[in-house]
Order: sequence, then C-alpha cells, then structure tokens
Amino acid sequence: MNTTPLLPNFFAGRWQTGAGNGTTLLDPVLGTPLVRVSNTGLDLAEGFAFAREQGGQALRALSYQQRAGLLGAMVKVLQANRDAYYEMAIANCGTVTKDSAVDIDGGIFTLGYYAKQGEALGDATCLLDGERIRMGKDPLFQTQHVLNPTRGVALFINAFNFPSWGLWEKAAPALLSGVPVIVKPATATAWLTQRMVQDVVDAGILPAGALSVICGSSAGLMDQLQPFDVVSFTGSAETARIIRSHPAVAQRSVRCNIEADSLNSALLDPAATEGSEAFNLLVAEVAREMTGKSGQKCTAIRRILVPRALFDATAQAIGAKLAKTTVGNPRNESTRMGSLVSREQFDSVLAGIAHLKTEAEVLFDGNGAALVDADRAIAACVTPVLLGHRQPAQAQVLHEVEVFGPVATLMAYDDEEQAYALIRRGEGSLVASVYSADPAFMARAALALADSHGRVHMISPDVATSQTGHGNVMPMSLHGGPGRAGGGEELGGLRALGFYHRRSAVQASSVALDVLAASGTPLKY
Ligand code: NAP
Repeated sequence: MNTTPLLPNFFAGRWQTGAGNGTTLLDPVLGTPLVRVSNTGLDLAEGFAFAREQGGQALRALSYQQRAGLLGAMVKVLQANRDAYYEMAIANCGTVTKDSAVDIDGGIFTLGYYAKQGEALGDATCLLDGERIRMGKDPLFQTQHVLNPTRGVALFINAFNFPSWGLWEKAAPALLSGVPVIVKPATATAWLTQRMVQDVVDAGILPAGALSVICGSSAGLMDQLQPFDVVSFTGSAETARIIRSHPAVAQRSVRCNIEADSLNSALLDPAATEGSEAFNLLVAEVAREMTGKSGQKCTAIRRILVPRALFDATAQAIGAKLAKTTVGNPRNESTRMGSLVSREQFDSVLAGIAHLKTEAEVLFDGNGAALVDADRAIAACVTPVLLGHRQPAQAQVLHEVEVFGPVATLMAYDDEEQAYALIRRGEGSLVASVYSADPAFMARAALALADSHGRVHMISPDVATSQTGHGNVMPMSLHGGPGRAGGGEELGGLRALGFYHRRSAVQASSVALDVLAASGTPLKY
C-alpha cells in the first residue's frame, strides 16, 4: 500500500480525491516522496459547469469593491500561513528562503496590490472604456465602449517554477474582474498551490465555485472550454503550441494568453568602463539573476551584451561573484542557491548546457565545488555556468535555446546597432535590462528594444538602490512579451482586467447611456 498522502482536488465545490496511485512529488534535494496527486475519474464537465455557473454568477453579483474585499481577506489568510508555505517550498522546490520569498510573498503582494486597485473602482459592476463618441453631427446618438466581465471560467495551466506567484498573479485580476478560476498547477510543484487554495477555501471567503484546483494530468481540460471561457498558460514554447492549436482556441475562439520561454538580455552601455558604476551594476545583477531560483525564472538574464573591450573583464567579475555561490541543501544556512525543481530538470539543464557549449566557450564553471549537505547522485543541484561568445552574430543556438537553470552567455558587441540586432535575435523576450549612466543612451536603447520586449528595465547609478530588479515581476508593470515569449500580456495594473472582460460598443441615445454609466466606472490606467 502506498502511504504517501494523496492530495485532494477542490473541484465542483467539493474536495475530491482522484483514483489510482497518481504521481508522486519528490523532495528535489533528498529524493524522498512528499505527496501524490491525481485527478483520474473526476467529472471534468461537472467541475467546469459548476465554476462557470455558480462561481461566475455569485462573483458577478458583487461590485469591484466587494470583490477587492475578498482579495484583501485572502491576503490575510495566506499571510497567516506563510511559515507552512516556506516549509513546503524548501521540501518541494528546493529553494533557499530568499528564492521562496519571490514566489510566496511575491504572490501575496500581488494579490494585495489588486485588492487596493479594486477598492478604488468602487461599487461599479462594469468598466467604461474611454469617452462617449458622437456617431454623427447630432450629439443624441453616441457610442460608449463598455467592458463587462466574461460569463465564463478562467482556466490557468501553470509552470512549475512559481507555484504561488503563478497562481495569484493570474487569480487576482480574474477574481477582481468577477471571473471564476480553475487552476491546474504543474505537477512537479503542485503541493504549494493546492495548499494555498485549501487555506482560502477553508476560510470560507469566496463564493462556491469561485476558486478550484485540479492537480495531476492536464488531459481533457482544454476540451472543456467554451467560447466565453479564457485560458492562461505559462510554460514551455512546446506546450504553448499544443494549447494554441487546440480546437477550443483555434475553432471556438477561446481567449488565450501565453507566457512562454524567453532569451532575456542585459546590455552594458558602449561607453562604460571597467569598474564604472554601470559595469558594477550589470555584473551584480547578472550574478543575481543567474543564481536566483537556480536560474529557473522565465525573466532570468540569458544573454549578456558588453562592449568587446570589456568582454574579459566582465567574465572575470561575474565569475568571481559566481564562485562565492554555495550550492546545495536549502535547509543549511550556508547555502546560497538551492536545487532545481526535479531530477528531470537537472538532466534537461545539463543537456542544455552541453548544447550551448557546441557554440560557446566556458568562462566559468562551478562544477568543481562541493555541494553543501547534498548528494550529487540524488540532489537536483547544478552549479552556475557562464558561457561566452566573442562573435555572437555567428551563433545560432545561443539565440534560440533557453536553458532553464543557472546558465547565461556573455557576448561581445562592436557598436550600439549591432547590440540591438543581437538582442532582437531572441525573437521577442520578456525583459531586457540596460546599464548606463547616460540618459540619452538609455532613452535610445529603450525605444530600440521596447517593440521586442514586454518590459525594458533601465538601470543608472541614481536608481541603484531603489530599482526593483531585472527579473522581478511587479504587478504595476506589464509582464509578457511578443514573439517567442508567447505574445501574452499580464499584470500592468488594471490593464490585466482587460483579459477577463469583453469590450462592446454600446450605441444608444445619451439618455440611455446616462443610465448605463451609473453601473460603471471609467477605466483609468
Ligand atoms: P511545461 O512543461 O510546458 O508545463 C507547463 C504546464 O503545462 C504544466 O502545468 C503542465 O502540466 C502543462 N501541460 C503539459 N502538457 C500539456 C498539454 N498537452 N496540454 C495542456 N497542458 C499541458 O513548462 P514547465 O516545464 O512547467 O515550465 C518551464 C517553462 O515555463 C520555461 O520554458 C519557462 O521559460 C516558462 N515560464 C514562462 C513564464 C512566463 O511568465 N513567461 C513563467 C514561468 C515559466 P504537467 O506539469 O502536469 O506536465
């Protein structure tokens, strides 16, 4: 008999345990079993209909302000249980405290941010988009664009690296919009997502059907989607292709947001010198980005572009910082960087590094260092690797392959335009960061990179202590990116509500529009 606990799913308004043995989640450092997940035998049609009908109706009956109150109450429940979440993150994600915080506290912060934003929307039940527009010379007949919550369910298919933040950064704007949520966490780290949902459900904050969690297989979930539902996917480009071509999206026009992988860049000003503030800021951020969450961040810096004359100095400076990164068991206080999320990811990252090495030279490899309190044969621990290429225009793989671990490639450039062209070889990324003391260069770089990046992070010495970090996704700024990054948009303050609302042009007399306006509030960003 299997004694590893089987996590129940909260689906169709009740706790339901899947059939069979399910999939066992492991401690990625110790290799020990933690819990199992299964959704075999659950009636998917029943669960989706329950969320859509019961949850949707109850949420839409509330105003934005009332729903914001629910988010605020959820924040309190999650905060009260933080210690348990940190324990689970150590056990299931292999993360050190500061990396767990990005996921756990980052998720709770985002929820709290939307609670505040929603409060300001008052007792409205719809959003007024822009001013009324006259339809002719006569001001009597006019158009008012209106945003109404969609009468469907929001399905979230999430990635393994952010079991907390990945849930709340999507659920906050969905629930605030009045749209019920069904979350399917990535199997490897589903435990934390399931527990957070359980705590919120047990607290009795949300109406029945507003929040469901289904762990284990993704089979059949997309088949349930109907035209007014939405699906928000975060994960690999490969799975994104499957989601995008599913008949629900391709034939039934289910709205789909994709956050996929990305080859994010950091760029150093061509006029920077060794040891300058801009140089030091880039070096510190690259080292932080490579090692934060063991490089398992969709926003992590993968390509570092520096003026050719600074290539060797940058390699040495980053290498010196990486050499200080102790890797191993996150339970040991001397460990700076924990493990990858699973032994499968370990294999995938090692294979990825080998692939990048077919083009790149190795500038730093921490592999000689001993692991802290961890067995190399069991733990999913990979030490940081800095690769390099002096003629990156000739590289292919380095601009195409995302290795989801503590790995980045240093690249030399000869002039500003070449640097932008190299960055654009990523074919659309989530974020580029630029390090410079020259405002004119930063403004040029921002405009050169903004069309191919969801976010451009400009770092000059004056913001050195107040900046929020290259890889940190803040709820007030847009998250997403064009092209291979998936073409999606999330967060960006109230912009996020757009995905969960339907825009309609209401053409009517001014008198009717006056009555309608009483239910709405102008959408101001
Ligand atoms: P993944 O393998 O694509 O899995 C993502 C999710 O899709 C998981 O929940 C997975 O479930 C599910 N899934 C797998 N096959 C599916 C199918 N045929 N139909 C429907 N769902 C399916 O990605 P991952 O390995 O978890 O995450 C790593 C990747 O995510 C990286 O490439 C990273 O860049 C990207 N990422 C992007 C962002 C962003 O915001 N842009 C954020 C985080 C991560 P199972 O776990 O059960 O297989």
